[in-house]
Amino acid sequence: MRSVLRQCDRHPAFGIDRFRMPWQGNDLSNPYPIDGARDALWRATAVAPVDCRPLDGDIDADVAIIGAGFTGLNAALVLAEAGTSVVVLEGADLGFGASGRSGGQVNLGLNLGPSALIARFGEGAGRRLIERLAGVPDEVFALIERHDLNCDPVQMGWVQGAASDGQRRLQENLARDYERHGVHFDVLDAAQVQRRSGAHGYKGGLFCATAGSLHPLSYTREMARVALGMGVQLFTHSPVTALEREGRHWRLSCAGASGGRVRAETVLVCTNAYTDDLVDGLKETVVPVRSLLMASEPLPMELRDRVMPGEVTFVDKRRLILYLRYDRDGRLCAGDHGPMRDGFRLEDYTAVKRRVVEVFPDLAGVRWDYHWGGRVAMTRSKLPFIQVVDDGLVAGMGYNGRGVGMGSIMGRILAEFVLGKPEGELDFPVSTPKPFAFHPFHRIGATVAIAWHGLMDRIEMRGNR
Ligand SMILES: Cc1cc2nc3c(=O)[nH]c(=O)nc-3n(C[C@H](O)[C@H](O)[C@H](O)COP(=O)(O)OP(=O)(O)OC[C@H]3O[C@@H](n4cnc5c(N)ncnc54)[C@H](O)[C@@H]3O)c2cc1C
Repeated sequence: MRSVLRQCDRHPAFGIDRFRMPWQGNDLSNPYPIDGARDALWRATAVAPVDCRPLDGDIDADVAIIGAGFTGLNAALVLAEAGTSVVVLEGADLGFGASGRSGGQVNLGLNLGPSALIARFGEGAGRRLIERLAGVPDEVFALIERHDLNCDPVQMGWVQGAASDGQRRLQENLARDYERHGVHFDVLDAAQVQRRSGAHGYKGGLFCATAGSLHPLSYTREMARVALGMGVQLFTHSPVTALEREGRHWRLSCAGASGGRVRAETVLVCTNAYTDDLVDGLKETVVPVRSLLMASEPLPMELRDRVMPGEVTFVDKRRLILYLRYDRDGRLCAGDHGPMRDGFRLEDYTAVKRRVVEVFPDLAGVRWDYHWGGRVAMTRSKLPFIQVVDDGLVAGMGYNGRGVGMGSIMGRILAEFVLGKPEGELDFPVSTPKPFAFHPFHRIGATVAIAWHGLMDRIEMRGNR
């Protein structure tokens, strides 16, 4: 058995990452004026936080979950409903990870289309996954309704704009591919993209009627509220810094303000882009790229009728995507890629502000009130994964920017696995993700890759005029 015992004191919220290369900088003291979590619009508009404290003392549970985002919390809900005793350990405050900072778009699909998924996972597992994916937005909105989660759900559809003829052809092929599996996207021409979304300059697009948006921090806090009501023990500011085998149990030890310990037979690691060195080799399977978000002043209705009317969400199909949605007060939230650090400067948002006005010229002069951002977990396969790291130690993560829907569903699938569903019957296949080579240099690699993708986007756009 592989040893997964690690002592690490470098959770992003608590201390210095002593293994960072000097040229990687030190995000943790955050010398930048904009804090990716604290400055999120969602912090100002979310439902009240739930009452949680750090774990002190020793407790036992059937299942320990590390990370209280969409994945960990939904796993906790399903397990608790099935009568399992669950402890959730969150290293920072609730929503510190991507779940509290996200764009909150609930979308259908992964980075690979149905044929590619079947080619990768085989006929049976591939088809099962596609069927489950098709229902992801409906499943999330049903979860919200069932538990009466107060998180501003809006299910008014999603427009994806193709910025070139090549992208339009890719979309048409994808829509045909999905259609063969009974999943429908409307294929839009340029005029229809403009009519449905108000976006200018696109060659065509797709519309998905079941997609929508939610308030990501409220969704997180509300799931936590319900989980606590079901008897889940949820501790914040309890970073797990050591994981050891003790007979058939795992012993999790927390540091920081906590110092408590948990003994559990099964551990779910749900740390996605905020994965640290706790589990040997896990961090190397994801590269945390950064996504920036900003939110406008509340826009008047006559402007909202022209820009993404009817609260449709929007994303484009460039390599470096632009994504937009409204919040409940009519603030437009727009997102783009960011620099490879956890704190930001206002200048980092110059490009996204320019892009927004290129696509929606009516937004010139709009005031941007909030700026924030966070980490997005990219994987080599461009797909999430479930990995059995060791007996009773399972990880589920790697959403490549699609974790609002997929993370929620992954939580349920992980819970079903723990509850005894055979591996071969899970709706998401178990696999061993390939690590990134030269992971310690991922900042440099990702910076180069982003620059390359940006260049490719510009060349494609130029050839397109
Ligand atoms: C700016 C931004 C915009 C995004 N927009 C969208 C979008 O519009 N649509 C979409 O589908 N996806 C979007 N995403 C991605 C999506 O938000 C994530 O995929 C999803 O939130 C992941 O949820 P999670 O529960 O797996 O992980 P997270 O929410 O990141 O939670 C992981 C948690 O683990 C904790 N943790 C880490 N290590 C430890 C430890 N050792 N001990 C204890 N706790 C630990 C962290 O503190 C963190 O809170 C966006 C992401 C970002 C950053």
